[in-house]
Order: sequence, then C-alpha cells, then structure tokens
Amino acid sequence: MLFMKAGSVRSRFFWAVILLLGGLLVSGVIYLEAATRFEPRTLQLVPGPLVLDRKGRILRLIPGLQGQRLVKLPEGKIPSLVAQAFIAAEDQRFWCHPGIDAVAVLRAAGQNLAAGRIVSGASTLTMQLSRLAYPGPRTYHRKILEAVRSLRIEQTLSKEEVLRAYLDRVPLGGNLVGVETASLAYFNKSASDLTPGEAASLAALAKAPTAWRPWGPRADRLAARQRLILGRMAQLGFLSPQELAAARQEPLVFHGAGRGAPILPFQAPHLVQIALSRGKSSRTTQGRLATTLDLSLQQRVEALVRSHRTQLARAGASQAAAVVVDNRTMAVLALVGSLHYGPRDQGFNNGVTALRSPGSTLKPFLYAQALDQGFSSAAVLEDVERHYRTPRGEFNPANFDRSSHGPVSFREALGNSLNLSAVHLLNQVGPSAYYDTLIRLHLINHPERGPEHYGLGLVVGNPEVTLLQLTAAYATLANGGLYRPLRFTSGDPVDPGVQVFSPQAAYIVTDILADPLARTRIFGGAPAMNPVCRLALKTGTSTRYRDCWCVAYSPEFTIAVWVGNFNGQPTARLSGASGAAPIVAEIAHEVFAGTVPQDFPRPQGIISRNVCSFSGLVPGPGCIHQRQELFIAGAEPTQVCTYHQPRDPWHRMPTLYAGWLHKRHGQGGEGRFRLAGFPLDLDKVFPPVQPAASAPPKPASRNGKVSLGLGGAGAGLPRFNPPAPGEVPLVSITYPLNGDRFQLLPGADSVRLTLKADCRMPVPAITWLVNGREQAATAPPYELTLDLARGRYHLTAVAPDGRGDAVEVMVE
Ligand SMILES: [Zn+2]
Repeated sequence: MLFMKAGSVRSRFFWAVILLLGGLLVSGVIYLEAATRFEPRTLQLVPGPLVLDRKGRILRLIPGLQGQRLVKLPEGKIPSLVAQAFIAAEDQRFWCHPGIDAVAVLRAAGQNLAAGRIVSGASTLTMQLSRLAYPGPRTYHRKILEAVRSLRIEQTLSKEEVLRAYLDRVPLGGNLVGVETASLAYFNKSASDLTPGEAASLAALAKAPTAWRPWGPRADRLAARQRLILGRMAQLGFLSPQELAAARQEPLVFHGAGRGAPILPFQAPHLVQIALSRGKSSRTTQGRLATTLDLSLQQRVEALVRSHRTQLARAGASQAAAVVVDNRTMAVLALVGSLHYGPRDQGFNNGVTALRSPGSTLKPFLYAQALDQGFSSAAVLEDVERHYRTPRGEFNPANFDRSSHGPVSFREALGNSLNLSAVHLLNQVGPSAYYDTLIRLHLINHPERGPEHYGLGLVVGNPEVTLLQLTAAYATLANGGLYRPLRFTSGDPVDPGVQVFSPQAAYIVTDILADPLARTRIFGGAPAMNPVCRLALKTGTSTRYRDCWCVAYSPEFTIAVWVGNFNGQPTARLSGASGAAPIVAEIAHEVFAGTVPQDFPRPQGIISRNVCSFSGLVPGPGCIHQRQELFIAGAEPTQVCTYHQPRDPWHRMPTLYAGWLHKRHGQGGEGRFRLAGFPLDLDKVFPPVQPAASAPPKPASRNGKVSLGLGGAGAGLPRFNPPAPGEVPLVSITYPLNGDRFQLLPGADSVRLTLKADCRMPVPAITWLVNGREQAATAPPYELTLDLARGRYHLTAVAPDGRGDAVEVMVE
C-alpha cells in the first residue's frame, strides 16, 4: 500500500509536471504565434504622390501619411544592380535561406560570444524587413522573434516580393525611404538607371543612413563601405573585373545639398497644389501623379515673370501671375502663381486662383454673343455718355480715356475696349442673357446673387473671376466657341465641352482682337499691344488700377497674365496694356520660340463685304472711306449709307449724336461731322446760349395729380403721346432717369439739373414740360438746365408731332 501510495504520488507529480510543461509549451506556442504573426498588410505603405511634369520630370515628392518620402520601385523586374548591391552588402545567401541564414548565425554567435556583446547581427534581408515592419528595441529576445517571423514571412511571400518590400522600406537618410526615392533624390534618376557605383553607395548608406550621410563628417566611412560592397559584388560574380575597375574609377556625385537629406525638387508649387487638391481626378498611378506641366517652359516663364519684379514694384505692383494653356488639349503647360513662392509679398498665395475684378476682359464674350444674336459686325455702336438705372443704383460708365467717341464701329468699340459702347451693347443684348453666357463660361462665382446683382456692370468688371477661369474662357474663343475645362493632370479627362458661341462669332471676335488697327485709338502707342506675331489680344484694368490683365491667344496657345497686389492695393496707374501686356508678349516669344503661330481657321459661313467706314452700311457713291468687314452670312448690311452724299465732304450723322457733337463742337473738334437734317453751320444748329428757364418751375402739389401735359395747357403746345409698347421712341429723356431722387445740399433751396433728351429724327426743337406746364423748347442737343426746389416733378419732352417721353423725379 505504501509502495502503491508512493507510486501514485510520484505518478501524480509526474503528470502534474507533464501538464505544466504541456501548458507552458502550449502557451509558449500561442505566445510565439502571436508575437511573430506577420500580416502582409503591415508592409503596405501609403506613399505621398511623386508629382511629375508631362515628360516625367519631378516637380515634388509629397511626404506620406507617416511623414516619410517614398517612391516605390516601378512594377516589373527589380533593378538587378540594386538587388545585387544590397544582397552583396547585407545577405549573400538571400536566394537560398528560408529567412534565417544558419551559417551567418553561427558565425555571428561566435563573434558575439567572443566580444561579450552584439557586434554582428547576422540579419538577413528578411529579418531586416521584419524589423522595419515591426519596429522595436534590438534585444536577443526580439531577435529570436524576428527570426521566427522571418520564417513566416518567407512562407507567405516569394523571394522577389521579400526583396521588393525590403527595397521599398529601407531608410536611406532623412525621411527618404526606399531605393527608388533615394535614387531620385541623390542621383536624380530612377533606380533602374543607377551605375554599379551608385547602387553600391545606396547599399552602403543603408548601414548607417544618418551617421554616414553623404555630406556629413563621416562620409569617408560611406565611401569605404561602398568600395567594400563593390568588391563583394565582383566576388559574387555580379561584376566582371573590368566593371569593378570602372566602378572604382567612377567619381561618386550626390545631388542636392544640405546637412541632412538632399533637397528634393520643388517645382511649380502653385500648380502642384492645384493638382493635389483636385481629389478624384488627380488619382495617382503607383504613387505617381503626372501633371500636364512642361517643366522647361515653366522655368522659362517663371524667370521671365520674375524679371519684371523691380519694374512692377516701381509702378506699385508687388505681384504677378501667369498661365499658358495648350488650347487643343486644354492642358496647363505653365502656371506661375506669384513672383516667388515664399513669404515675401504674400508669395505663398496663388494669383491664378484669386478672385479679382476682371476690368474689360469679359467684353469679347458680350460681342461674340451679340453676333450670335444677329448683330452686324459693322454695326455702329453709340459711344456717348449715358446714365443707366440698375437695381444697385444709377450707373454712369466712363471710358478709360474719359472721353466719348460718338459713333464707333463694332470692331473699334471692342478693339479699343470702349466702356460706353460696351454698356450700350449690353443694354441691347440684355444683362440676363449675357449673364447666362458668363455662367456657361464658368465666369460667375456667385450664381446665388443673380444677374441683378451685377446689372450693366457685368461687362465692365463687376463679376470677380480668377486668372484660370479667364484663361479657359479665352481658350473658348480660340477653340471656335467650344468651352472646355482646363486640365492639370494627365488623368483629367479631355472634356467634350459646351458650345457657347458659334464658330463664326468666335472667329469674328478673334479677328477683331487680332487686328492691331482696331485698337489704335486707345492703344496705338503701346508697343506690347502690337506683338510681332499675329495673336488675338485683350487687356483689362480694374477700378483704381488695382488689377492689370492681359490675355493673348493663337489657335494653339492661350497666355494670360495678371499684375497687381495680393492685398488689393491699387497700383500706381499701371494698366493691362502697360503692366501685363509686356509680360504676355515675352511669354509669347518663349512659347512660340521662333515659330510663327498658325492662322485661325476660317469657319464656313463667314463672308467679307465692303462697308462705309463711318456708317458700317453698304457704301454709296458718296462714301470715300470704305473698309472690308467680316460677317456671319446673313448679317451683312443691306441698307445703303445714310451718312454720305455724292460730292459732299460731310459725315452727316443721325440726330442721336446731337449731344456728342455739341460737346465736340464746344471744344472745336467737330471736324467734318454734321447732323443730318440740320444746317452745316453748327453755330446755327447749336445756338451759343440755350434758352434759360424763364421762371423756376413749381413742384407738384403734395397730393394732387400731376398733369402730364396731355391735351396741352397753352395754345400750340403739342399733345404728348407716349410711345406704344415695342415702338422705338422718337424722343427719349436720357437724364434724369425715371424715379431719380435728388438731395438738396445743406443750405441750398434747389438743385440744378441739366435735362437731356435723345431724338431719333431731325426735329428742330423739342418742348419740355414740367408738371404739365410748358417750360421751354430746345434745339439740338435738346438739353435744358433747371433749378428745382424740394418737391415732385413730372418732366416731359415732346417733339412737334406729340411723340415724346416722360419721367418723374423727386427733390428731397
Ligand atoms: Zn458712307
């Protein structure tokens, strides 16, 4: 029993030990399994994109999420010299071992025991990969785990995959990760293009990327190891003796400079920003983002824009921006966002995406639309001072040269960028219709405001736009009226586009913008406005000379420049023509590089006709001055000139221009202009002293009804007939406007107003009625000066036949 008892105690102890050992083993296995687990996912790095130009030149390498700069090796075969250099340096039996190199371990163990510390790691590339993927302190314990994990990695991945993962992971100085990244950074080439010496130096650098950095104090250690690795490559048969000798002769040149990592390219920063911010459309392929930029053109344009800095600064402009676009593909070839990407003059700001007032640069789109609405390209536009009522108050446009040019041709009005005629044209085209066109051209950035917000100011720079938007809109004219969005990356699709204008309208507007003679009146003296090559060209200047713009295009390219200050300060009277056009001319010189721009292809349906230079009508026998004009077939004039008579030297203009001619006559500059239907002696047409108001008119009684003069209060007074709806009025009161309110100045008991009327027919005089009472009759220019006291006034202008116009105003 005792024996039995003792036996059973022993047996129980035995089983307890077995159980304990078993338990330990199981938990050990479980622990080891967990501690050496390998998830292929951990090898996946999210690289920041490598941004390239259209020819694959590096613009910028964006750091990845973990802050590292990484460009993965391109897919396909691993560059053999790189593989050989790293294998020779780190793991000569890489292709045969299962993840652990037993030979190396034994040798290392001997060395470490002898030294009493770790001097040799015997780390295979697989073990190094394991450490890179699961970083931690370098202890014996971790080394064992690494070794086990390496076995598991090798079971999951092929040798090729292990090598590739390692080469994409290995740190090579600063935040550079991977051999492709280091090749680009240190040698400015892809890893597949490295020489044996360069490949060996990267393998050498992997040993101590910080301590042995190429520009550090211990760069000699790097060189020594590189020679060692080259030797081993030869021993292993990777290099022939001749190749080894050549590699040792090869001077090793690292690109970049600095104490730490090399300086990677940082090109076209503003374009890179845009390309990166475009989300889906800038999806990268293998971490590479190919932009449409042409780096060499970009560098030339940058230098050129920058060369204007001093000159611009003298004129009160601290910044400039420029864009060059290939019209055929809408690819942005060059983009300069500021004079220098830096803190100076807010240079980090991107001038091509800043919303600014475009001045006159939106005018060509109005003219193109007018042509599509049936306007004749030889139409005479009234360039006379006018007051307009808009939802935002009265609008009194003025020309850049502060004068008015009377009857001007469509061509000259656009070429010289005359504001008065542009607003006159907009009033006829209709602000809403024009607004819709601007929407289609993507030039309205606040559609919630609606056309009323801008009113007639739509055509003189009220809607703010960006230089990029303007460039795309002008490319529309270059592309026969087809709007397509700009492209920044090769991944951006080539959009089929929207036909905003007919090809004919786009062609005629382009022909005008490319016609130096059409702009001589205002821009004749500016050399930059007469480029050597045939380019369509338009400038713009915003209020108080804040923004200076110039856009030029050929069928192939659109070039746009903005000059001004990012803080909105006005320049010192710099204009689009004096500030931006010279830069555009120089860029054009670079872009065309000695080649001649193509002619704009003439679409079907364009005809050429002779017209009278003054009236734009079919020349009659008296029309001495004639010129050729282009028309959309069907819009050519059919009426014979009314300005000229045979053997008569005078230009007899419609009565509409009475006010304009009167002013000009007062300045002695009437030339041969006369009013049709009136004597040739302008002193007789315009009496030197207009009849003064006989007595100050009385305001209407506060509540009483205002007499409109219907029926007439006195003998001979014409009966007033307001124009029927749709009828072109014979007489229109152009000032004041119906509903105008005038404030009395402090201390004054009346305001002085000069009433003005337009007349479409040569009537000798019109009669003015104030609150139904005849005030005076005035001959051309049909103006009457009155002093009006506080109160309400109904003003009527009536032609002898009774046709007329009426407005109501308040003096408060
Ligand atoms: Zn004529």
